[in-house]
Amino acid sequence: MKFVEAERIRNLPPYLFARIEQLIEQKRANGVDVISLGIGDPDLPTPKFIIDEAVKELYNPPNHQYPSSAGMLSYREAVASWYNRRFGVELDPKREVVSLIGSKEGIAHIPWCYCNPGDVVLVPDPGYPVYGQGTILAGGIPYSLAVTPDRGYKPDFGTVPKDVAQKAKILFINYPNNPTAATADLAFFEEVVAFARKYEILVCHDAAYSEIAYEGYKPPSFLETPGAREVGIEFHSVSKAYNMTGWRVGWAVGNADAVQALGRLKTNIDSGVFQAVQYAAIRALTDPQGDPTELCAIYQARRNLVVNTLNEIGWNLEKPKATFYIWAPVPAGHTSASFAELVLENAGVVITPGTGYGAGGEGYFRISLTLSEQRLNEAMERIRSALK
Ligand SMILES: *Cc1c(COP(=O)(O)O)cnc(C)c1O
Repeated sequence: MKFVEAERIRNLPPYLFARIEQLIEQKRANGVDVISLGIGDPDLPTPKFIIDEAVKELYNPPNHQYPSSAGMLSYREAVASWYNRRFGVELDPKREVVSLIGSKEGIAHIPWCYCNPGDVVLVPDPGYPVYGQGTILAGGIPYSLAVTPDRGYKPDFGTVPKDVAQKAKILFINYPNNPTAATADLAFFEEVVAFARKYEILVCHDAAYSEIAYEGYKPPSFLETPGAREVGIEFHSVSKAYNMTGWRVGWAVGNADAVQALGRLKTNIDSGVFQAVQYAAIRALTDPQGDPTELCAIYQARRNLVVNTLNEIGWNLEKPKATFYIWAPVPAGHTSASFAELVLENAGVVITPGTGYGAGGEGYFRISLTLSEQRLNEAMERIRSALK
């Protein structure tokens, strides 16, 4: 039997990291000690105090039953109190917070709540692939918003054609940014609010990296912006700040109607997050041991190592203020793909071609800092030799 896949599946580009994993496997099968700088997944373990909390709650039978899909009230309260402490943003845990199975789940599902077939979703290019793919799955049409270094990787809303803006239902933004490591200030967020108000577009801010920042920089929440709650929601999770990507627990907060629409959709799809995992996340967000300062110091040392090495061999990069990524132009004469291939062939190192994040990533590559300083050092020395 040959089943014909639905168009929404056939229209999906292959998931970038699946292809990278295939390439790595081929090389490893040939005996090469491949070092992957390709995947943005924290290498360090979840802190012990969080694991201990989860283990304790594993033995508590009520946690073995279906959770509420919106999240336990105590979980939503922990998220709200963290927002208050961290950003000075007050949230109503009952109306303005919903749990997610990681923020990726909510990002992929939000277009289902607001897109009818043919509706437009504004998606930064380059950007996290889920914004566009989630849109396609919901029957919407992604419209690429160019983000370029000359504007600090912020979209220029003045370039969006009026008819596109009028058809747009959602705008995705993401600061600190994956893959470019760009950051945004409240002045930019104010521009976003004005644009969203004018065209009645729901702003979906992906704040996954707000806690991974350097030299005292504290990235703001979109919800700190006056009027943000009337037009937008923010996606976040414990994944990056507490090395918990595998646990699958996050949240959407902000505009009550949008948060509840997402919650209503989810009651028809999933049954929420395992309660023992919600307890672990509560602990992460409320225990002073959860302070990410030490984790950021580790990434900062790795960041310095990578940027300094690249600058020694011909690049001219500034050190990013946030995220665990280095985004850099490929050498003259190369495309993203040809440079990634050269580095894999000659150095046995995987870097991500910028085009994996959209056509706008052409001419760039991304290095992830999620491996030990020793391995990173080895990778950078191999790249140095390969490019001699
Ligand atoms: C890692 C990441 C996420 C978060 O993923 P979770 O589903 O919360 O683990 C969201 N957005 C971007 C841009 C990311 O890089």
